[in-house]
Amino acid sequence: MKAITVEPKKAGTARYEDVPEPDVHEGSVLVEAVAVGVCGTDVEIVEGKYGWAPPGKERLVLGHESLGRVIDPGPSSSLKKGDLVVGIVRRPDPVPCPNCAVGEWDMCRNGQYTERGIKEIQGFMSERWRIEPEYAIKVDPSLGILGVLLEPATVITKALEQVAFIGRRLFWEPRTVLVTGAGPIGLLAALAAKLHGLDVHVLDRAESGTKPDLVRALGATYHAGSVRGTGLEPDAIIECTGVGQVISDSIQAIGSCGIVCLTGVGHGGAVTQAACADIAAAAVLKNNVVVGSVNANKRHWYKAGNILARADRKWLSRLITRREKPENFKQALERKSDDIKVVIQFAEI
Ligand SMILES: [Zn+2]
Repeated sequence: MKAITVEPKKAGTARYEDVPEPDVHEGSVLVEAVAVGVCGTDVEIVEGKYGWAPPGKERLVLGHESLGRVIDPGPSSSLKKGDLVVGIVRRPDPVPCPNCAVGEWDMCRNGQYTERGIKEIQGFMSERWRIEPEYAIKVDPSLGILGVLLEPATVITKALEQVAFIGRRLFWEPRTVLVTGAGPIGLLAALAAKLHGLDVHVLDRAESGTKPDLVRALGATYHAGSVRGTGLEPDAIIECTGVGQVISDSIQAIGSCGIVCLTGVGHGGAVTQAACADIAAAAVLKNNVVVGSVNANKRHWYKAGNILARADRKWLSRLITRREKPENFKQALERKSDDIKVVIQFAEI
């Protein structure tokens, strides 16, 4: 079969090539790939900045935002042939740490977890893949190709759950939420917050185009420019850009007793000691919490499935702005200005 593979930590090694059929040890459920979403992590792996091949192997099959159709459910699963499934990305560490031991592998404490298509387990960008039945999440068949949005939706489901947990430290009735960044994660955050009945605001650089349109179609308010320029004092900010200036502005702008949840991973950018102290003072004097959130456990995958199932299909379909064939994966990895989510489509649906 064909797969998109890469030699991790070596730029320019990605290719679409013949590989052996998926190893039976990867799971008893055999799946035909339908589509795989592309994100910044895939780009980093292809650029040689990140990623680990499975032990004893040189190359890693890319891809962690999966959608597939069951070919053979195997002997011990409730799945049926033809079911649409998405594969959970992370596996608990082998020690395991206390969090992995109770199924909270998204909170792994020792960093020895593994991840499909990223860290030591083959990903989903192959014509067929295998998975353990307990890590295959069945998606609402009416979602069709939109099921490929489940993995990014899990990131947001966890982030919002963290905000809700932290909010219980006091009497807190959040009304206004600001989402910074109108990429796939930010737009899914806006969708989920809207489904929670909140007054949702989304900030991005784009002045016009699909992003503002999608925000307004949700009944949310769109802002172009800076966090301070919005004039808001939100109860919660879901930060999805990873940009230093946006993060420090968010911590200064958050309302009293509010929560800033960081989901974006950025790089570089110096913060002076004075700026850092000012940011800290703003947090102290308003009883703020700044929390980071990454990955998702099985509970979040289940909840994210419910969010997608409740969402307007037409709205969701506008998040997928480009579909590329596997042989054109390099185009899929290039970021164009009006891209939201680009997917590599392996089979018709
Ligand atoms: Zn762990």
